[in-house]
Amino acid sequence: MLKPKKDTQIQTIMSRTVVTAQKEASITDICRLMETSHVGSVVIVKDRYPIGMLTERDVVNSIAKSGHAALNSQAQHMMRSPVFTMQPRQSIKKAVEFMISKRIRRLPIVENHRLAGIITYGDILRAVQKEVADMELQTEQLKKEVQKDGLTKFYTQKYFKILLEKEVERAKRFGGFLSLIMIDIDHFKKINDTFGHDAGDYILHKVSLLINHNTRKINIIGRYGGDEFAVIAPISDIRGAQRLGERLRQFVNQTKFMYNGKQIKTTLSVGVAAWDKSIATGRDLIIKTDKALYKAKHGGRDRVSVI
Ligand code: GH3
Ligand code: MG
Repeated sequence: MLKPKKDTQIQTIMSRTVVTAQKEASITDICRLMETSHVGSVVIVKDRYPIGMLTERDVVNSIAKSGHAALNSQAQHMMRSPVFTMQPRQSIKKAVEFMISKRIRRLPIVENHRLAGIITYGDILRAVQKEVADMELQTEQLKKEVQKDGLTKFYTQKYFKILLEKEVERAKRFGGFLSLIMIDIDHFKKINDTFGHDAGDYILHKVSLLINHNTRKINIIGRYGGDEFAVIAPISDIRGAQRLGERLRQFVNQTKFMYNGKQIKTTLSVGVAAWDKSIATGRDLIIKTDKALYKAKHGGRDRVSVI
């Protein structure tokens, strides 16, 4: 249900330009004012304080009652008076309750005995919609953050698997290409043991940046394990995925990773597999790709293997 936040103040949504007229103005003048300013109501003021209000509806009603003679009468004889007002620091929630209880659609806002603005149902609705949209955006961002790994900013294994299941479902229903690439840092344990855990973290972060920069937006990347990454290539056939894997391997192989003045030689083993009709689930595709990765490790590391 749409509800404005309890504490949001009227002044954050009120319109500060209000069309006003003096009480002596003729109804013809008022009509002209409404037309040129594209508003449905005019606030009648005395010394800048609202003393009455005239809406299009009031004008039409009085013309219906008294004919065209109504056009010559003065605003003060036709206006609704006194006018209900509120102050800018009062809450929107209060304003809504008040407007509903008084059955009014516009509420002039007064500060220091002067007209400061006006709020309408339209303003309130827009404010509430914006609040809801902001909240939804926040929730979405929060959800995404929770599903991302802190060090690499890639999806966690759990969320990655959900996304992969969706991709496999899509491939099953609509066909097309889908490949999976699994990447594991070679002898990472040794890097930790030789240079320290912080150096290991540094390498993980740097490798994740290289993977990120060398993949496209449509690729879905997960941190699959401690030193393992997985990339979904949703429109790549096996050759395209193999090229991507090879590019990543070469980039890491040729990069000089320096930490505390020391170079840390880093290489990747990469396994690549493509979806085919025999693969029913994301898990099946992971098992197949994992076999390719195993092949790369046992083939001597620093290489890309395909199954
Ligand atoms: P292989 O070539 O067979 O992949 O050897 P490896 O040493 O890379 O393989 P293994 O899986 O035995 O080691 C992975 C290591 O990664 C073990 C773990 O201590 C380390 N690790 C896991 N997560 C992190 C992390 O976030 N930071 C750091 N620095 N190390 C991590
Ligand atoms: Mg490893």
